[in-house]
Amino acid sequence: MGSGADVITDTLETIHDALVRNRSGEVASYIPKLAQADPEEFAIALASVGGHSYQSGDVDATFTLQSASKPFVYALALTELGWSGVSPWLRTEPSGERFDGISLEPGTGRPMNPMINAGAMVATALIPGAGPEEKFAKILNTLSRFAGRPLEVDEEVFASEVATGDRNRALGYLMHAAGALPGEVNETADLYFRQCSVKATVGDVALMAATLAGGGTNPVTGEQVVPPRVATKVLAVMATCGMYNASGDWLVRVGLPAKSGVSGIVLAASPGRSGIAAFSPNLDSTGNTVRGIAALRMISERFRLHLMHNP
Ligand code: GLN
Repeated sequence: MGSGADVITDTLETIHDALVRNRSGEVASYIPKLAQADPEEFAIALASVGGHSYQSGDVDATFTLQSASKPFVYALALTELGWSGVSPWLRTEPSGERFDGISLEPGTGRPMNPMINAGAMVATALIPGAGPEEKFAKILNTLSRFAGRPLEVDEEVFASEVATGDRNRALGYLMHAAGALPGEVNETADLYFRQCSVKATVGDVALMAATLAGGGTNPVTGEQVVPPRVATKVLAVMATCGMYNASGDWLVRVGLPAKSGVSGIVLAASPGRSGIAAFSPNLDSTGNTVRGIAALRMISERFRLHLMHNP
């Protein structure tokens, strides 16, 4: 792959080594199974839209996607229903609130955006299907096509989420009471918990991000997973809303559309160039991975990926 590949791999290694001793933050504990994560694990991956992959650290570690599933299910909803079918149900405004906040539009009950839990449940409820099995099969199939390989559900994490998911069900009931949830509350919550419990590696997630960065085409399989216009909209919503109440600061400092999850994964997309993912379970107070966001900040700086940068 020549010296370009060596430079990228060396950079990922250097960044990994610079951050691996940072043990600040804490693993998520409100979902009991997630509390068992190994806080030492740390992996970084970059996938180019040309189909090359570069990785460093614990690249075989698996984790659940959690909120990193949200952009991809939103992409599926947009693909199936179009903008006109989705936008009446879901706003695309940053909420400035926590991922599990009651960020609903006064009057209509519409969630502020699909990157927070309330909005993600609406996106999930919008996926067409005869019943929950068919809907979930479609969701899992889409996540797998983004990753370029068949992904599976971690049943233990799923059971743990169902057992402790009252806050998300409460968000569901609030939306349902306002006529703002296009599905039944418990069915929707379970589908959402299932999508959050899909297992992946950091390389999978980098490729999922690279697929968005490449206009919806998976760089390795060559499959058009979602249309370019959908990828563009999803990236725009990730840029403004993907890091919850840290989204503004993130866009200023890193300058890339991104999405994090409480398992400790974070992904970012550099449009037309690459997808980047970092995994490490210790989280900061906003629920974002400490080492992961530091790694992405360094990668963005090192490769001058900030979207507002004048080349
Ligand atoms: N399954 C988690 C929840 O709904 C996902 C949240 C997250 O990753 N921020 O609480």
